Amino acid sequence: MSHNEVRTRYAPSPTGFVHIGNLRSALYEYLIAKVKNGKFILRIEDTDQKRYVEGAVDVIYDTLKIVGIKHDEGPDIGGHYGPYVQSERKHLYLPYAKQLIEKGKAYYCFCSEERLEDLRVKAEKAKVQNKYDRHCLNLSKEEIQRRLDAKEPYVIRQLMPDTGETTYNDAVYGDITFNNDVLEDQILIKSDGFPTYNFANVIDDHLMKISHVVRGSEYITSTPKYVLLYEAFGWEPPIFVHLPLVEKLGGGKLSKRSGDAYFSDLIKAGYLPEAVVNFIVLLGWSSGTEQEFYTLSELEKVFDIKGISKSSSVYDTDKLKWMNGEYIRRKTPEEFVKIASPWIDKALPDTLDRTKICSMIQKRVEVLSEIPDMVKFLKKAKPIDISLYNNEKSKCNINEAKRILPIIRDKIVAMEDFNHESIYLMFTSTAQELGVKNGLVMWPARIALSGQLVTAGGAVEIADVLGKQETLKRIDKAIKQLEKTDA
Ligand code: GLU
Repeated sequence: MSHNEVRTRYAPSPTGFVHIGNLRSALYEYLIAKVKNGKFILRIEDTDQKRYVEGAVDVIYDTLKIVGIKHDEGPDIGGHYGPYVQSERKHLYLPYAKQLIEKGKAYYCFCSEERLEDLRVKAEKAKVQNKYDRHCLNLSKEEIQRRLDAKEPYVIRQLMPDTGETTYNDAVYGDITFNNDVLEDQILIKSDGFPTYNFANVIDDHLMKISHVVRGSEYITSTPKYVLLYEAFGWEPPIFVHLPLVEKLGGGKLSKRSGDAYFSDLIKAGYLPEAVVNFIVLLGWSSGTEQEFYTLSELEKVFDIKGISKSSSVYDTDKLKWMNGEYIRRKTPEEFVKIASPWIDKALPDTLDRTKICSMIQKRVEVLSEIPDMVKFLKKAKPIDISLYNNEKSKCNINEAKRILPIIRDKIVAMEDFNHESIYLMFTSTAQELGVKNGLVMWPARIALSGQLVTAGGAVEIADVLGKQETLKRIDKAIKQLEKTDA
């Protein structure tokens, strides 16, 4: 191909949310450009005014910002090939459609909605593919002019060849061939004067000198029509890169309901942008090595179209969770306090020390939204189910708890400094004095302090967060409860 600079574009329609599949296209486009020192362009495709959602363009900017990909040209920063919003380019498409009419590759169509609807219904009844019947193909020049002068609403349709085949080469799927007779005379210019997506994308990709068009495999069947448009104009087509489908584990599409379809939902649910980016890039691409963790700047060096797979990729939520957990553990304690604090705030008063809580939970959090539930026992212990004192591994049972908790209470009362180190020492020396394992001392203490079988931290960490007074209060309460039982 003779495109001498790699230029890719992300061309979202402002419909409100950024779908994971769409974001994957953006990432691949960005990486294909960066790996070759090319340009990554943002173009807003708002020709379908019915689908336009107020504020959606800001969602797109925000998403790119959070993800960390910067465009080199776009509506907000300009560039040589603007404007970068299709509605601002509206005037530009009709002359191109007229050129095609001159060349005999397109025609005016005045068919009413009702007539087209009629065709649709008939095709459905006859169980055949609905194709426009070319009712307006052979209108005389005079008739066309008369109807245009009379301001009759019209569309412009692309005239597809009736016979033969159209073949294009896809960078992922190889040669793809379609029989021309399956292609419908698609609309290029709508009756509201706007181009269709199918027309605008070709004109814009050409005018913006796009070298690689990257999009989901749902576009594979439309691409022959685009190729025919490039041919009709005598333009060189870009390299087409179609991406494999993304399916859920066990099949099915990602959906808003299951919370996995939109980038913003993942972020709201407490996934880290860099983990989501890493995960999404691996949906359909692999480097061919064992490496799974990539920063965006590493990807900017190693991404390769050859690593894109043909087969559909599986969106495995457990893998995303695991990967997110790994990213959380790689945070410095300070970074983690920063990202975890808003989630801790949802469950706990600010009197409890965030740094201590964070060092207690950092190892265990996979998704930030788990945090409120994980820490809420620090605000208020659950009523203790005394069977929780029974634990084989630490050899604890209700009687042992009854024996050991008062000893611990007295030790704590006598403590002057109450911190992680001194608490640890208190437990271990108590165990030593009693001639038992540390676990037998720490198990009942942890149950008494939390009321939970599973906690994010051990007895030492929990006591340290709670402080001496609250620790004593909880242990006293547990002792009283045990005294009432006659086990
Ligand atoms: N506006 C289209 C969409 O959001 C873009 C598809 C393409 O990349 O050409 O789906």
